[in-house]
Amino acid sequence: MSETSLNGYPVPPKQLKTFRVPGTSRKVTLDSEVGPILVALAADYHKLVRPIDIGTVDDGGYAARPARLSPGRASNHASGTAVDLNWSEEGAMGSNWGAKFFAKAAVAAKIRLLKARYGSVLQWGGDWRAKDYMHWEIKPGVSRNKVLALMNKLNINANGVRKDA
Ligand SMILES: [Zn+2]
Repeated sequence: MSETSLNGYPVPPKQLKTFRVPGTSRKVTLDSEVGPILVALAADYHKLVRPIDIGTVDDGGYAARPARLSPGRASNHASGTAVDLNWSEEGAMGSNWGAKFFAKAAVAAKIRLLKARYGSVLQWGGDWRAKDYMHWEIKPGVSRNKVLALMNKLNINANGVRKDA
């Protein structure tokens, strides 16, 4: 039986692909088509907000698991359309470890920049009531075509490399 994750993407995913986040040695497995936008975001996050490749491997994409806050529904990680960055620094969902860091003006400005660049198709867990600072995902209702159009506009290739970066 097939189902969809919270944002409407198929579970299990149509096709998974493992990407290396440009500028780092970290790898994440995501939906092969829309994954590159999350990979490009991760590379920008690494450059602008906080490095993601320091310490233990604490970044991840695809995971076959239920949504934590919506019983009976599949997490967007289960469709390979969400990525977690720096869980040892940014903290797990609801932990609020990240609150102080993300309240800093310089950090908030970088997050605004990322949201201006990617916010038409991606959303950040740090904006939720139950804070999930490490989490970025394809927004509910955003089609593959809309993601591909933004990839095209931002010059992001199928490996998540943003050529203008
Ligand atoms: Zn997550």
